[in-house]
Amino acid sequence: MSTYKNFTVETDADGIALVTWDMPEKSMNVFTMEVMDEIEQIVDATVADSAVKGVVFTSGKSSFSGGADLTMIKSMFSMLEEEKAKDPASAAKKLFDAAGRMSWLWRKIETNGKPWVSAINGTCMGGAFELSLACHGRVAANSKSVKIALPEVKVGIFPGAGGTQRVPRLANAQDALQMMTTGQSLTAQRAKAMGLVHQVVEPAELVNAAKQMIKDGLKPVAPWDEKGFKVPGGGVWTPAAAQLFPAAPAILRRETGGNYPGALAILKCVYEGLQLPFDTALKVEQRYFTEILQTTEAFSMIRSLFVSMQELGKGARRPAGVPKTEFKKVGVVGAGFMGASIAYVTAAAGIPVTLIDRDQEAADKGKAVSEKLVADSIGKGRMTKEEGEKLLALITPTPDYSALSDASLVVEAVFEDRAVKKAVIQQVEAVIPETTIFASNTSTLPITGLAGNSKRPDQFIGVHFFSPVEKMMLTEVILGEKSGDKALATALDYVAAIKKTPIVVNDTRGFYVNRCVFRYINEAYDMLIEGVPAAMIENAAKMAGMPVGPLSLNDEVAVDLSQKIMKASIADLGPNAVKVEHMALIDQMVDVFDRRGRKNAKGFYEYPPKPAKKFLWPELKTLYPQKKAEDVDVNTLKQRLLVTIALEAARTMEEGIVTDPREADVGSILGFGFAPYTGGTLSYIDGMGVKKFVELCEKLAAKYGDHFKPTELLKDMAAKGETFYGRFDPYGEGKKAA
Ligand code: NAD
Repeated sequence: MSTYKNFTVETDADGIALVTWDMPEKSMNVFTMEVMDEIEQIVDATVADSAVKGVVFTSGKSSFSGGADLTMIKSMFSMLEEEKAKDPASAAKKLFDAAGRMSWLWRKIETNGKPWVSAINGTCMGGAFELSLACHGRVAANSKSVKIALPEVKVGIFPGAGGTQRVPRLANAQDALQMMTTGQSLTAQRAKAMGLVHQVVEPAELVNAAKQMIKDGLKPVAPWDEKGFKVPGGGVWTPAAAQLFPAAPAILRRETGGNYPGALAILKCVYEGLQLPFDTALKVEQRYFTEILQTTEAFSMIRSLFVSMQELGKGARRPAGVPKTEFKKVGVVGAGFMGASIAYVTAAAGIPVTLIDRDQEAADKGKAVSEKLVADSIGKGRMTKEEGEKLLALITPTPDYSALSDASLVVEAVFEDRAVKKAVIQQVEAVIPETTIFASNTSTLPITGLAGNSKRPDQFIGVHFFSPVEKMMLTEVILGEKSGDKALATALDYVAAIKKTPIVVNDTRGFYVNRCVFRYINEAYDMLIEGVPAAMIENAAKMAGMPVGPLSLNDEVAVDLSQKIMKASIADLGPNAVKVEHMALIDQMVDVFDRRGRKNAKGFYEYPPKPAKKFLWPELKTLYPQKKAEDVDVNTLKQRLLVTIALEAARTMEEGIVTDPREADVGSILGFGFAPYTGGTLSYIDGMGVKKFVELCEKLAAKYGDHFKPTELLKDMAAKGETFYGRFDPYGEGKKAA
């Protein structure tokens, strides 16, 4: 047996070398430079060893591999910047070589002369599936845990290690494009049906089946290296292709607004590559990959959606020196809409929950939500009956506060009412020990004010969930003026335990996410009032990369909730806190037309009974004199929607509400889907350049109002040529990533 740092190679009596990938100290196998070097050594060694007849490549972990370690690509970006400054031509050549490293190594496997079979035992993503595609045989385990995908497009790049060439030479072009431009996951069965794997076998049979393929005489030659190879469906010069390829860019544009250069590059690679001999096609892919790696989109998406998200998830903002909390029990007070789901996600993490409401019936009703979620999961095959029962057994509904006496953390989710919350804080503190942390899920009440009702404000913190709690990956942790390190560490340990991503935000009205969301919705109110047709507002938002239009989002949040929040802002901050025209619009919607949003099936949209789809309320156009569509500039609408949000994010940095640009970016994407191709609110500004952003703000302010005026911080940064990631360096003093 030969041992490498990340692999073992064991050759059996039949001469089949079993290569098992099992990286030490990592929960998942990923490609690093070292891993690729070792694979190359293994290829050379097995080729040189005449006793080896063939190779089976598998993983020693429960998953196969998550693909490339994108921190490696991020460090390539920094290297490129340094090189560019010295010698731009050699920088481009170095990037080209680095971009092709994986691709040509996989090609070396494909042409090594001995048969290789990939035995896919679990999740197999990106570069790992591309490696498998370069093997001569592919066997996948018949298991739910096998998820096969080329998801690179989701972080702004594309499958650049042969993926764009091998997939359409195995599957039909339409399925290939669909798989790669969406990054969708395939089950083992679906991959087989598409022609991407040869066999699906029971997990225990996986390695044997892979070895059997070699024993049965698997040819060590890829189909495209055989004489007379034909692309499935006949390539690009067929009637079917004549239907597909001219339409594909238009379909992609409809789905993505033309915002993802990586996705477009997939179409180019497939279309051009299918007309070329295989090695030339790989070179074409390498060129496009080099080009895409240099886009702002790739840089920003990899940074936010991979590196920063991972760092925040691992507790980048957790105070050092506070021991990790093992949650023996979590109390949830208030078993309503939010509390019931908070109890569910906590129990799903294996933590016992005491779920409290005013009486047993209300508490039971809260647990019934988990019962329904569990039944749905079992029905969809996502959970076994035993797992479901175990989860439900962890939730104890009761009106008895004394059951909280051994909770490590209590999360409060009662009515949004200061007096109700005050009474609950006092009732809870009467029974919990000194060491228990109290967290409020309030969405609008400042934490510092609520903590004023507590005997131990240093143990008091905000943990703000988003609805639907089971689906939303973000949680805002809100620091009150007196919240201490233990409260912060415990809150972050809890968010990590329930597998969500935290951002840490200082106390302010609306915290971070809702402040940004209100700006988005307010801009849509302005547009409606100007007479912009509602459909144009919604479409412009989608074209700008937002997942949900602002009017649709307002319906989801509830229009009467907006009215309540606007009235509360006026009561607390004075009449200038809300634009008179906005208040009039919303008062009219709620008080005159009873249009409260999705919940009463009447909002900015009409919600006819299913299966009919929602549509914009036709009477909206009678509220304000309408502009003609041709008199409205869609690009300006797109800019207004993104700029108003980004500007609010910049204000939160200026005010010290958010202190780390990674949190502003990740929070904006996970919290409300801010145009992911930008990398988030601040990357959007950094990406276009602060100077250009300030100029854009000034232009919009002149036409659409003072709320677009650039702030002092932005003007200062523009004058100094700074970026948010430079000025608020997340890796600077005391802020090292975990
Ligand atoms: P809800 O009305 O659905 O639930 C509140 C629950 O608290 C009810 O079951 C009620 O019986 C219970 N309750 C009231 N007084 C109580 C008491 N003294 N002791 C025990 N239980 C009591 O409200 P919700 O939408 O779940 O909101 C709860 C909190 O979460 C609010 O602070 C809200 O601002 C916040 N929040 C809501 C959302 C959202 O989308 N709805 C999002 C984030 C945060």
